[in-house]
Amino acid sequence: MFARRALSRVVYGSRYDRVPRNHRSYVRPGERLAREVQWRLRIGRTPVMRFQDYRERTLLERTEEFVTCRLCGETRQQPLFQRAGAGRGGTYRVVRCPACGLLYRNPAVRPATPDVPRTDVPYAGLLYADVPYADLLYADVSHADDGAAPDRAADRRRRRHRLTMDAFGPVFSSGRGRTLLDAGHGAGDGIFLRLARERGFDTARLDLAAGPVTAAGGFDVITLWSVLARLPRPVEDLRCLRGLLAPGGVMLILTANAASLQLKAYGNGWTGFRRGNLMFYSAETLVTLLSRTGFAGVAFAPFYGDDVEAGAVGLPGRMGRRLRRNVEAGGGKMIRALAFADREAVHRWGERLGARRST
Ligand SMILES: [Zn+2]
Repeated sequence: MFARRALSRVVYGSRYDRVPRNHRSYVRPGERLAREVQWRLRIGRTPVMRFQDYRERTLLERTEEFVTCRLCGETRQQPLFQRAGAGRGGTYRVVRCPACGLLYRNPAVRPATPDVPRTDVPYAGLLYADVPYADLLYADVSHADDGAAPDRAADRRRRRHRLTMDAFGPVFSSGRGRTLLDAGHGAGDGIFLRLARERGFDTARLDLAAGPVTAAGGFDVITLWSVLARLPRPVEDLRCLRGLLAPGGVMLILTANAASLQLKAYGNGWTGFRRGNLMFYSAETLVTLLSRTGFAGVAFAPFYGDDVEAGAVGLPGRMGRRLRRNVEAGGGKMIRALAFADREAVHRWGERLGARRST
């Protein structure tokens, strides 16, 4: 860590010391290009292993299981990252799927509920119904705001919700006459639902830990705030959520970006590699997931950082422009996406937001 700091001081001087740490790799000249080259070398040099070989050389904790790619079914593994102590006691390992590019935790958290395919009950309910399992996935949710004090953490969440809704303009500006379902773990802290009600939405909460999903459906909006990375069966779960949307409905997704410049800069030390996170999507793999689960299209809103967007951090002209360029090239820390249930939704909202079709 010290060596890295000393090196960047030699390369960049002290000019960037006043820039908050999480933005530094976005504002330093040439850094994106250097990290891209480094990333490609990492992918090119890391061997792709057969599933069996990966199992044999990897230690398995009691609460873990080996998995294959949940997005495309590929079994081969490209082990890219490992971090001691980020899992409960053990090592947190992240592999890349050599077929579709998804990054995922492997070994993953093992559900106590047997993995029996069921067609009548969605996986979300089946898997999360097991309390210890939900605890393993969600225990660190309350620390998701860098260990800030509770009040500050709540303020930050409120700011994040507001900025993200605003990024999709017309979809969230008025909720009058529309229903919104927020999906997450537990009862939630109510911060987001209060905001949504202030904007006129009729709100409901789906507790993914409460067992089979029995919500009636017909919702105009579903929101997934930092939940996608924690879904162990994303294809099954998103199909289920897609089924809860009304014609013309949309689903808001906020999740860590697997193509982020920050991940490429920090590697094993990236903040997205935390205990409950199982899967890391890029815009590309998210489009694959959405098209496999019946959504008609998706629009992305670049994430520049909450503090930057809220004007709490001022970056001098050139640095600000560099940050924007790097984010707009796909390297933002988070993905903000709006998925459209069907063509009607694309027509109603997507055309104004520059939707990409996912089918
Ligand atoms: Zn895959």
